[in-house]
Amino acid sequence: MSWLPYRSLSSFLREKFGCRVQKISLDAGMSCPNRDTGRKGGCIYCNPRGSGTGAYAQGIGLKEQIERQMTFMARRYKAKAFIAYFQSYSNTYADVETLKSIYDKILPYPEIIGLAIGTRPDCIDREKLELISSYGPERLVWVEYGLQSADDETLKRINRGHDVKTFIDAVNLTGQYPIRTCAHIIIGLPGEGMEQYINTSRLIANLPVTDVKLHLLYIIKGTPIEDMYIKGLYRPLGMDEYAQAAAYVLAHLREDMVIQRITGDPHADELAAPAWAMEKALVRTAIIEKMEHLHLHQGMMYSKL
Ligand code: SF4
Repeated sequence: MSWLPYRSLSSFLREKFGCRVQKISLDAGMSCPNRDTGRKGGCIYCNPRGSGTGAYAQGIGLKEQIERQMTFMARRYKAKAFIAYFQSYSNTYADVETLKSIYDKILPYPEIIGLAIGTRPDCIDREKLELISSYGPERLVWVEYGLQSADDETLKRINRGHDVKTFIDAVNLTGQYPIRTCAHIIIGLPGEGMEQYINTSRLIANLPVTDVKLHLLYIIKGTPIEDMYIKGLYRPLGMDEYAQAAAYVLAHLREDMVIQRITGDPHADELAAPAWAMEKALVRTAIIEKMEHLHLHQGMMYSKL
């Protein structure tokens, strides 16, 4: 499929760098303020591995993680350029000196042409943004914030530990720096339907957000959402429902936004449901076909708030 009804990360990177660029996911052994003692135990869907590789817990340091993954990606995809993605937990949840010593691990590698830092909107301030922006302009730099939903009631229901305003403030602050901002949203949160998905899409389209990741809410074993699923209090979306929701979410975004993901990426051994969440290629095709069927493309329903 050559033409896509949305602006994908791979096409954006190819336009910008003229070659294949691969992300390498790094686990710096960070934590998360929503999981630390004294807080309420994390988001109800939180993977105890913090959505990461678990490499740090296995004793694999950052240097080794970087070199192993670059070697693998170069062999498998002939990639010559890489984006270092600090993925696990909240990668700005430490003092600036500690963060600098972590991010500096990418400096010996000129082939790392991008730095992406996943975090929460309640873990950022000017000092950290100054530090992060210092890795540009020779590298493309992103901060990735989880919003998940633009509905405060939903954020309480999923025990997110911050509200929508905190996200808006973080994004507006980040927009003052030469940093790209990626927002993560989840389709299928308990109590949500198309109205909430579209509201979330419209909010982020009206903020200085440059990139978006869409995730399906899938159920990881051992999480509170799995208890709700077992008790019949939560039903995961079907693939067609997800495809339809994703199609409308994409249609309400701005057309210049880069879509970094259109579904999540569960580990097979951790997934409780739905089984189709493992079929990434099928999900991608279902979204594209749904958009074609509904005559939708990214940006066509965007409107200013
Ligand atoms: S913000 Fe991420 S790491 Fe923290 S509790 Fe929520 S899902 Fe888990």
